[in-house]
Amino acid sequence: MYFKRGKVIIISAPSGSGKTTITKFLLAQDLNLHFSVSATSRRKREHERNGVDYYFLDINRFKKGIQDEDFLEWEEVYQNTFYGTLKNEVQSMIQSGKNIIFDIDVKGAITLKNFFKKNAFSIYIDVPFKTIEKRLRNRGTEKEQEILKRIQKIKKEQVYKNKFDAIMINLDLDKLKKDILIEVKDYLKNK
Ligand code: 5GP
Repeated sequence: MYFKRGKVIIISAPSGSGKTTITKFLLAQDLNLHFSVSATSRRKREHERNGVDYYFLDINRFKKGIQDEDFLEWEEVYQNTFYGTLKNEVQSMIQSGKNIIFDIDVKGAITLKNFFKKNAFSIYIDVPFKTIEKRLRNRGTEKEQEILKRIQKIKKEQVYKNKFDAIMINLDLDKLKKDILIEVKDYLKNK
């Protein structure tokens, strides 16, 4: 894939660490950033829209996409639940010189960083473990069993955080927003 002008910002973190909020905050700034809509086989949450938050595919359609090499990367993020970055989605944005922002799991983030190399800036948002657990429960969008699955996954993911270009700690959301904005602006301007 030919990389023309756009640059890539990769936001990753355990679920419940505020990365969706941060991604939305960055998208609202005047940074020519565009969200890469991923495909997923998970069920749609009530407030979500197909083609805006995700492309919601049934599991067979997702697996066919894997076979057809439609994905730049994909992960079985939770058992039997797949998420992936569609080549088509990224290609068209890059060709028109847009900057892309990804909200993606830790392994997918590392794959994308290896793919885009210097054209990508990867940020891991870190949060104390107990805080994440509390936020997941308060959000109330997942069943208890799903929360426990996510907590197991967070424990595994923490191991990878040193592979990121930056680790930023979310203790105070407003402070994190300010700090991330400085880093992202600096990256988009200079490199
Ligand atoms: P959620 O179901 O809460 O929207 O997302 C679950 C996890 O999947 C999050 O960590 C999210 O960032 C990640 N994710 C979303 N899209 C992708 C993708 O395209 N590829 C990978 N590897 N992970 C993704």
